[in-house]
Amino acid sequence: MLAEMGWGFTDDEYKADLIVINTCAVREHAELRVLGNVGALTHTKKANAEQKIVLCGCMVQQEHRLEKIRRSFPYVDLVFGPHELWRFPELLEKMYLPHKGRIFEARDIDGERYEGLPVLRAPGVRAWLPIMNGCNNFCSYCVVPYVRGRERSRAPEQVVEEAREVIASGHREIYLLGQNVNSYGRDLGGETDFSALLRELNALDGDFIIRFMTSHPKDASDRLFETMAECEKVERHIHLPFQSGSDRVLRAMNRNYTSEHYYSLIEKARSLMPDIAVTSDVIVGFPGETEEEFEDTLRLVERVRFDMLFTFIYSPRVGTPAAEMPDPYTREEKQLRFDRLLELQNGISEQRQAELVGKTVRVLIDGVGEGSLTARTSCSRLVHVQGGSSLVGRFENVLITESNSWSLKGELT
Ligand code: SAH
Ligand code: SF4
Repeated sequence: MLAEMGWGFTDDEYKADLIVINTCAVREHAELRVLGNVGALTHTKKANAEQKIVLCGCMVQQEHRLEKIRRSFPYVDLVFGPHELWRFPELLEKMYLPHKGRIFEARDIDGERYEGLPVLRAPGVRAWLPIMNGCNNFCSYCVVPYVRGRERSRAPEQVVEEAREVIASGHREIYLLGQNVNSYGRDLGGETDFSALLRELNALDGDFIIRFMTSHPKDASDRLFETMAECEKVERHIHLPFQSGSDRVLRAMNRNYTSEHYYSLIEKARSLMPDIAVTSDVIVGFPGETEEEFEDTLRLVERVRFDMLFTFIYSPRVGTPAAEMPDPYTREEKQLRFDRLLELQNGISEQRQAELVGKTVRVLIDGVGEGSLTARTSCSRLVHVQGGSSLVGRFENVLITESNSWSLKGELT
């Protein structure tokens, strides 16, 4: 939108006429960083009186954060929530009207529009493509349903059209995004579903791959795994957050599956695609999680042997049911558990990486790193490869020669 209005980037925050900070509300740490960054802008604003400061994104959709911004940051000129994004040009214009004062627009989602917004894609290998907005699941720890509203799927024709544009502009990887992609289409009257969408995208012409996230275990079906197995452009990788290995905690989280069901999904996926990479999210220190319950999580991690795990310490979110639950464990106790989990997973990641040494894998070369090219395997593992920058954007076969916990080294074959 800004590009269409003639704006461009600067590296110098003192010279910037406009600073826009986009925010995330999922965990407190990110919010505190935003507040710290906004605090630091007193200096730039003092040095440049014409400068305007804009805050947007999910954080400002929360009443207590709006209050904080109103009280503590009088120099923020415009605040708008994710549902007002389509009105950004209008709000910006309003902000520049004389004597308009500060503008706060973070209402509910009525009248929201998300189709037809201008998109400026940075040139590169990967393109993000949202297929839906919002979430209906109300996991008891999570703020997303409150700040993003109910699930709204984009029409399949719109998604396919955008995918065509992305492929035509030379991107090689389409990353489909949604909070729960497995329920894609449910709100469209049952005419389509995520598997049907994958098949449609898979049938498009071009040399590209498709990835997606996030899948919710309660909605991951045999149909999804069969579709993945049959679609050659869909990468053999599933990001399937399990959150906890304890059935009591899963119930308290309102996740609607058991650890046994979760494991059966992994078995099903691996039986159809033995080489599938499995990654996941897990929360340590959910309110009241006991030592024994935490060990259930360790057991599940050992049993599944994830390729990669994103580990989080529980962060209380205002307005969610979990934030009201009794929580006798201290931050230090949670940190110790977190460290144990990380150590276990680091060992598994290292072994999983080492299993690839001596194998030839297909990678997508996606950038130029320090002294080598960077590439990604189907599971998004980082591989360093020697070669010229003209290879960026190409699919190549690579013989893996070395590994550590974080990356692999390979040679073009
Ligand atoms: N829709 C996706 C993920 C959304 S948020 C899903 O359901 O899996 C990404 C991850 O952040 C979650 O999977 C969860 O592990 C973590 N997360 C969400 N809320 C959190 C909280 N309050 N504290 C700590 N981690 C949280
Ligand atoms: Fe949050 Fe659960 Fe929705 Fe994921 S599925 S966004 S964790 S409420």
